[in-house]
Amino acid sequence: MNLLLVEDDPMLARGIAVALSKSGYVVTIAATAGDALCMARSNSFNIGILDLGLPDRDGMDLLGDLRAAGATFPILILSARAGLNDRIRGLDTGADDYLVKPFALAELEARLRALLRRQEDDSVWRRLGRLQFDSAGKRALVDDSEVELTSRECIVLDMLLRNAGKVVSKQKLFDTVFTFESDAAPNALEVQVSRLRQKLKAAGVTIRALRGLGYRIESGNEISP
Ligand code: CA
Repeated sequence: MNLLLVEDDPMLARGIAVALSKSGYVVTIAATAGDALCMARSNSFNIGILDLGLPDRDGMDLLGDLRAAGATFPILILSARAGLNDRIRGLDTGADDYLVKPFALAELEARLRALLRRQEDDSVWRRLGRLQFDSAGKRALVDDSEVELTSRECIVLDMLLRNAGKVVSKQKLFDTVFTFESDAAPNALEVQVSRLRQKLKAAGVTIRALRGLGYRIESGNEISP
């Protein structure tokens, strides 16, 4: 289980990380909102813990940005802010649970387990050709063997599969995949799509480029223009 821990207090972060590592989590610590966004873009997380008082930005804003960027993993807010309004706002902004500091480690772990169980129940496998994809768990299978995808490739594939047989505009895909990268190269999306095509060669699906319109995923192994 890959866990993103956003916490700027080094002692607390280390304490949580050590305890969770013993329970089998692979913990990545981000001490700032900037780091957290960066890590969420380049890694595939199963779950996250989010402190609200961060040095560079408020955790609430970070949460909104993570969700807008397509981060779908469950996030638990762990904060000293105990007010009802804070808790409501956190959940409304896209958090899945809220635990107030000080807290008991055993309760944190129990809540994480509950969130992961709920996510498993929610996961929907989409199928096309010989490809199966679970967007919640970010897993792709071709004939039951796992295909390793990056988090960006997962976002592209998820959007295409949700709209299988229909065209998804390049702009929409680009904005979703590169939300926070004003410096992303114009052909960055094409690069992602072409990697995805390579990885899905055996899947019996085609990602077709429609000039001026966008991309469409369909079953069948035709050569894409
Ligand atoms: Ca803090």
